[in-house]
Amino acid sequence: MTSSSFPSPAAFVIGHPIAHSKSPLIHGYWLERYCLAGSYTAFDVAPADLGDFIARLRAAEFVGGNVTIPHKEAVMAHCDRIDPLAGTIGAVNTLVRRGEEIHGSNTDYLGFLANLDAGAPGWDKNLKTAIVLGAGGAARAVLAALVARKAEKIVVLNRTPDRAKALARDFGASVDLGALEHFADFAPEAGLLVNTTSVGMGGTRFDGLPFDALGQGAVVNDIVYTPLVTPLLAAARARGHVTVDGLGMLLHQAAPGFAAWFGKAPEVTEELRARIVAAMGL
Ligand code: NAP
Repeated sequence: MTSSSFPSPAAFVIGHPIAHSKSPLIHGYWLERYCLAGSYTAFDVAPADLGDFIARLRAAEFVGGNVTIPHKEAVMAHCDRIDPLAGTIGAVNTLVRRGEEIHGSNTDYLGFLANLDAGAPGWDKNLKTAIVLGAGGAARAVLAALVARKAEKIVVLNRTPDRAKALARDFGASVDLGALEHFADFAPEAGLLVNTTSVGMGGTRFDGLPFDALGQGAVVNDIVYTPLVTPLLAAARARGHVTVDGLGMLLHQAAPGFAAWFGKAPEVTEELRARIVAAMGL
């Protein structure tokens, strides 16, 4: 495809597969809402074709774009500059072309923070202990965010405890580690519980997590958003916790890229959220 195929400025999302991506809906909504010229197109790019696609970006066919699974780590080798936080997280999800240079950043951590700020204002005031369930790619962005907001202690509990060791190494002394079985040891003191595992997708639930041990004042956030109310969030609501679902993280993480490519800082509105909920049948 040539540059003339896409209205300019042209941005993209690349992944493999890519059909499931909701990013074209989000950016399409904003382009329409702000009456901006431009386009945002999804491309299925196999790992072997990543270099060729990035060459098209460098040659100014695009202003930038988003990068999703499985390219978030591999694309780092194609960037001329990487935001230091993205380096610590170990993944890039947003590319911006500046002249012939490609700059990479990770906006998941910003999306995580903006979602909590909107859904549970003040959640980070005097936050002493935060429990993070999971130690995968998303957990790394959440840890970067919690370190940035100066959580005193971050407890990472993972099914495979060894996988969490790299997080402690990369995110510093405030990170404590354990297995999911250690949940009750830390739950009473926690001011925030975040699920970053894939448990919850499709309504799946944690086996035997003693959720009742969680302190009454804790905010509960599930970054899984299919379904919008996961079993973890349903249990938290039933116990009177303030809860925040994961869809807002997806919407907010898109905003910095849009601002860089199209020159307008977009708003995450109820209307946008409703559109995505309807499109996903949530
Ligand atoms: P990932 O790197 O594959 O990590 C998956 C994590 O889930 C690992 O910690 C894994 O534990 C754990 N896990 C998987 N099955 C489990 C089970 N049955 N019991 C306990 N733990 C289990 O995936 P990721 O990229 O971090 O994504 C994780 C989830 O976050 C996905 O559902 C994704 O859709 C969601 N997410 C949402 C947003 C958003 O914008 N809202 C952004 C990014 C990701 P082990 O290490 O033991 O395998």
